[in-house]
Formats: sequence, C-alpha cells, structure tokens
Amino acid sequence: MHFNTKTLHAGIEPDPDTGAIMTPIYQTSTYVQSEPGKHKGYEYSRTHNPTRTALQNNLAALENAKHALCFSTGMGAVDGIIKILQPGDEVISTNDLYGGTYRIFTKVFAPLGIKFTFVPMADLAAVKAAVTDKTKMFWVETPTNPLLNIIDIEAVAAIAKESNALTVVDNTFASPALQNPMDWGADMVMHSVTKYINGHSDVVMGAVCLNDDDLKERLEFMQNSCGATPGPQDAFLVLRGIKTLHIRMQRHCENGREIANFLNNHPKVGHVYWPGFEHHTGHEVAKKQMKDFGGMISFTLSKDSMESAMDFLRNTHLFSLAESLGGVESLVGHPASMTHASIPKAEREKAGLSDGLIRLSVGIEHIDDLKADLEAALAAT
Ligand SMILES: *Cc1c(COP(=O)(O)O)cnc(C)c1O
Repeated sequence: MHFNTKTLHAGIEPDPDTGAIMTPIYQTSTYVQSEPGKHKGYEYSRTHNPTRTALQNNLAALENAKHALCFSTGMGAVDGIIKILQPGDEVISTNDLYGGTYRIFTKVFAPLGIKFTFVPMADLAAVKAAVTDKTKMFWVETPTNPLLNIIDIEAVAAIAKESNALTVVDNTFASPALQNPMDWGADMVMHSVTKYINGHSDVVMGAVCLNDDDLKERLEFMQNSCGATPGPQDAFLVLRGIKTLHIRMQRHCENGREIANFLNNHPKVGHVYWPGFEHHTGHEVAKKQMKDFGGMISFTLSKDSMESAMDFLRNTHLFSLAESLGGVESLVGHPASMTHASIPKAEREKAGLSDGLIRLSVGIEHIDDLKADLEAALAAT
C-alpha cells in the first residue's frame, strides 16, 4: 500500500458493532469480564484501549514497522526508551538535539547511572571515536533541531550494529511522510506525535515504532508499568490528523522551499539553515534518506544579535511566536530562550546555536501572505 493510502486505511477497520467508518473513541477506563480473566483482549485502559490500538497499528504502518506504542507525550516516549537500559550503559547522542531530550538525558538519567556522550553525529569519525564496550544505544535526531543538520541514518546504524547497540531515530522533524528510518537500519523510531503527525496543534503525544518482538515487549512493559499512556480522545484526534499528513507535508515542503530561498536572497538575513540547499553540508544525505526537505528553517539576521532577533520576533503577525512546530499554522521561535533554554549557553554555542538564531515552522498558509509577513518583520530589524 502506498503511504498516502496507508494514512487513511492502515490498521483501521470499520467498527465491528455498528460499521462506523471512523474509529470510535472508547472513553472507558475498564472492560467487563464474563468470568475472571475472560475478556476480548482489553482489561484496563492504561494497558490497552481500542482507539489507541487503532492509532498504534496505523503508526506502525506509516513507519514500515511491525509495532508502534503510544505515550502521553514525546518525552514519555523518550523516557520509555531509555528505561530499557541499565545503569552503566552508554548512549551516544547527537550534540544538536531537542532541548527536552538533552534535559531528560543529563538531568534525569545521567544521575541514575546512564552515561551520555554528545557528538556532532554528521561527523561519522566522531561517532566511531565515541564508541566503548559499554555503548548500548545511538540516539539520532535528523534533521536536527534547530540547526537542521543531517545525520546519515544508514551509516550510524551500521556503526551501531558493529557494536551490538541499538539505533534510535527521533523522526519528529521529518515525519514518516518524508523519512522512514527503519528502511535505513534503525531499530526504533521515536516521534513527538504532537508535531507534524497530529499537525493541528491540539494534542501532545509520543510514539515509538519498532520491529523486534522482544524489544516491543520490554517497551510495552514500560508503557504499562510507568503509565505515560495517552487517552482515547487524543488517539482519535491524532488518527483524524494523520488522514491529511501527506497533503499537509506536501504544502509544508512547497512553502518551506519558497521561504528558504526568499530568506537566502534577502539582504537583512545572514545564514539560512535548510537541508534543501545544494550548499548545505548534509544535502546529499538528505536527498538519499528524505523524500523532501520539510517546513523547518532556521536563520540568523545579517545583524546577528539577540536584540535584532527580538525586533524580528516582535514584528511577525502570521508567524506566531510559540514553542512547538509542525502544525498547520506558521510559528516562529527563538531557540536560545525557548525550546533550547535548558541547554547551557556554552554547550549551545559549541553546537553552533547562537543567541540570534530564529527558527520557523512554515505552515500551510498562502505563500504570498507568509512572505509579506516575513518581509515586514525583516524591515523592523
Ligand atoms: C517536541 C519534541 C520532542 C518532545 O515531544 P513532546 O510531545 O513535546 O513531549 C522530542 N523531540 C523533538 C525533535 C521535538 O520537537
């Protein structure tokens, strides 16, 4: 089945009792048993819920994976994945990653004895050099947030296999419409479903997609034991959002391409980070592993300072100043003070994330209105 058909049909059956074409919202905490232990596969909604099951089956299909498990947030999914490790285990992670992921690694799991080594993962020699006999997991985010670096999933997965370690890819920025890490050898794909997959800025949720049955059981044990599971109403909303994922992504990519070129040619703009440019260092790898380049763009102003960035941010109207990304409406953010504030300034700057950096999540509005909005804000800098 092609991706565009899977978004609508994979894992989704008409309701067996009524024929309802839309998956019902099974708003129930528990399920009646005819005698103890005798039930239809559902006992309690932390463990399983039919609306969530439909969503999980759909997500697995979108990522060409056998299984998917949903968590109440993207961070809940990260938490579940790291909990399958043991104290003493080591994780090699990209050094340019979502601030919340950096925070849970360094502030929650490092004190519990799991070691994290951060390297610029586009540099495969640096990745290899970080491997030890305790390395159990490689944590990849590509394109990275917010600098849009591209990491070669196939190459990292090959290094991981040599050291018997797992490759996990946070695929939030690309979405399954543009990139399927399992096809390049990843063992697990993690999503903040909150972003492109749901796409309408009205749900927070996370997911993990994977093939290995044992690993799925361990993760499902974490999902149920730790309890960060989403409710059926949110599962329904995400199923509804997914139906248009492919068309939304197409417009995000079209608008993204126009905006990236517009900024790149603008005298008030300094550097533009977007993997679709031929001069982008990850362009060839992006072309290999992605279907298109997405709607996320970061840039600096030619007057690269915190003050000019603030002038810009105060003067956009269609681009709303907000955390998050991947919704139908355009957003603008200031990573240094918002999404990435939990990364110490020295670490941020080492990864190339300056105080003047501005991040756009380009929505699906008319391109002329978006350009006019940016033009007006740039004039104010
Ligand atoms: C938002 C985000 C997360 C965290 O997901 P939540 O749904 O906010 O908990 C993880 N990784 C990336 C790349 C994100 O953008």
